[in-house]
Amino acid sequence: MAINIVLLGPPGAGKGTQAKRLEARYGLVQLSTGDMLRAAVAAGTATGLRAKAVMEAGKLVDDEILIAMISDRLGQADARRGAIFDGFPRTVPQAEALDRLLVSMGRRVDHVIELQVDEAALVERISGRFTCKSCGAGYHDRFQPPRVAGICDACGASEFVRRADDNADTVRRRLAEYHAKTAPILPYYRARGRLRGVDGMADMDRVTAELEAVVGSLPPGAA
Ligand code: ADP
Ligand code: ADP
Ligand code: ZN
Repeated sequence: MAINIVLLGPPGAGKGTQAKRLEARYGLVQLSTGDMLRAAVAAGTATGLRAKAVMEAGKLVDDEILIAMISDRLGQADARRGAIFDGFPRTVPQAEALDRLLVSMGRRVDHVIELQVDEAALVERISGRFTCKSCGAGYHDRFQPPRVAGICDACGASEFVRRADDNADTVRRRLAEYHAKTAPILPYYRARGRLRGVDGMADMDRVTAELEAVVGSLPPGAA
């Protein structure tokens, strides 16, 4: 049986950080639509060309693009044991499409977990964020610096990247989009009895432990 987990929360809540940890812990694949879109922009695909300016403005990319992207991705072999959705769904139509898609595959959204954060902390979290250019490991100037300055803990590389949209102005616009378009999916999932909240302000290990308590241990062979 596959297991599918949706992580919700505003920009900087810790979705990517925790998705990577759950990926390793449960043998699931992290599906970050932000990462997929950035890859499309870097590759200059038709989707990337459409998405670039929208992302730079801190707005949401069209549902139809995102739904097609997730549908393709779920059909790939590494997603057969299930997925951790990071940054998707972000609108009610996306949430409805995900339910339909999973049902058509004989699956469901098993857990929806909201990382609850104090918005005053988000600008600092996001302005300090950077990732390893080679392996994508995530870091923070203050909260999670590499063990050896300038060297990736995970792969030893020494080049890092910062996102163009991780500046205070764009973050405020992304937060406004979150409230207008993404927060309405909280009642969507709550009405279906699937929503749980976890304190995203705790330190990273504590958040991971709370997520594991919600997801529980998978029965042998389940993954
Ligand atoms: P999201 O994917 O929700 O936008 P990230 O996982 O990228 O968020 O986290 C944003 C930044 O905050 C990263 O630099 C990360 O290292 C840091 N971070 C994540 N979780 C915590 C936490 N619990 N406490 C402090 N900093 C955190
Ligand atoms: P965050 O760190 O804010 O959670 P992401 O990396 O998930 O950021 O997303 C970056 C940008 O990519 C968003 O601001 C938006 O423009 C676009 N994007 C990512 N996922 C979606 C989605 N599910 N629907 C619409 N736009 C998306
Ligand atoms: Zn690395």
